[in-house]
Amino acid sequence: MTTVHVSPQKGQQNPALLGMKCIRCEEDFPIADYFVGCPSCHSKGYPASVAPQYNAFPRSISSRNIPDWLVYSTAPSLGEGNTPLISMKRLADSTGVSTLRIKNETSNPTGSHKDRMSPLLVQRALDVGAATVVAASSGNAGVSLAAYAASAGLECVIITTRSMDPNWRRAAEMHGAVLHATNTDEERWTAVAEGVRLRSWYPATNFTTPAVGSNPFGVDGYRGIAFEIFAESKDAVPTDIIVPSSRADLLWGIARGFEDLVKAGLSDQMPKIHVVEPHPRLTKVLAGSDYRGEFPGESKLISIGGSTVTYQSLHALEIGAGTAVVADEFSALEDQKTLARHGLYLELSSASALTGLRILLGMGILNSDSHAVLIATSHGYKEHAVFDSPISIVGSKYSD
Ligand SMILES: [Zn+2]
Repeated sequence: MTTVHVSPQKGQQNPALLGMKCIRCEEDFPIADYFVGCPSCHSKGYPASVAPQYNAFPRSISSRNIPDWLVYSTAPSLGEGNTPLISMKRLADSTGVSTLRIKNETSNPTGSHKDRMSPLLVQRALDVGAATVVAASSGNAGVSLAAYAASAGLECVIITTRSMDPNWRRAAEMHGAVLHATNTDEERWTAVAEGVRLRSWYPATNFTTPAVGSNPFGVDGYRGIAFEIFAESKDAVPTDIIVPSSRADLLWGIARGFEDLVKAGLSDQMPKIHVVEPHPRLTKVLAGSDYRGEFPGESKLISIGGSTVTYQSLHALEIGAGTAVVADEFSALEDQKTLARHGLYLELSSASALTGLRILLGMGILNSDSHAVLIATSHGYKEHAVFDSPISIVGSKYSD
């Protein structure tokens, strides 16, 4: 790996940033990197993330000042954020909720919500003088990090598996990332850990087992989704937000964002923030299993796959008073088609948010008075599709 020389590009850190606080034991720490999460909880065998802690928030919120709420108000940008909040009236009527809107994170530069995290991560890497950023990823996170690293002149290494979809692989390589493959998801974390220890790579994602959330400077960026939803819906703050999730970076960021709006005195309403998972993980933990356990399961919802749960998942559900539901891949495929036939072609994992909505309606947690927002995390063009039937050949039919 050649090391590129990066001229210092210090970010404008939020002046209200006090330090970092453990989301589990609430111990305070100075502003620094905590790659394995809270040192105290780690040493006790209960890994948990730390999060930026602010002593004040801006007095107002609008689409223009959201960077002032984040850990950095300046960071390398490709035009991410301010994504559309789309009203889906026909879909609301057919599903049976009062209103249904979709926060369309697919309109971010690399087509997924991960573009909320990458600019802040890359800025932090620049601040600490790192030459190379690294992520364990086989999809959206790796592509996004590769793009933002390229924009900032940093090297990027993506540790993936041999089964990485060629669409994502091509995108990451086009951005100049170096890809290394391991045989299993878990081996990716060992490879990242070695790179961090031996080569001073700056990590974007978890590399410990049991897992913690991704880099806190990056996760902070997901709060922006809550701020945008709130700024765009002051007359009709959603009652329920449904988030497809794996290790809950996005889920936690949205929950913390809404909590911060309440703390800032700008909102007196906290939406319920629910999570959709592809096989029982968090649902098992909520039923009594240890969150540090392994929860294996196979599904075609690869972007929210994985066998681990993080403490931040539990914390997010606690903040957002949400429910965890399991979406099977067949229902998600039906809902992928339904969303596409309402104009939005989303990745299968992303379409599971609609499946989650239907399940929550069936459970009576949502009802005809609910104002729901689904988070569309990633578009469908990235996936290899399995077509049901070949496209029919029309021959000269239209040339007569
Ligand atoms: Zn702790």
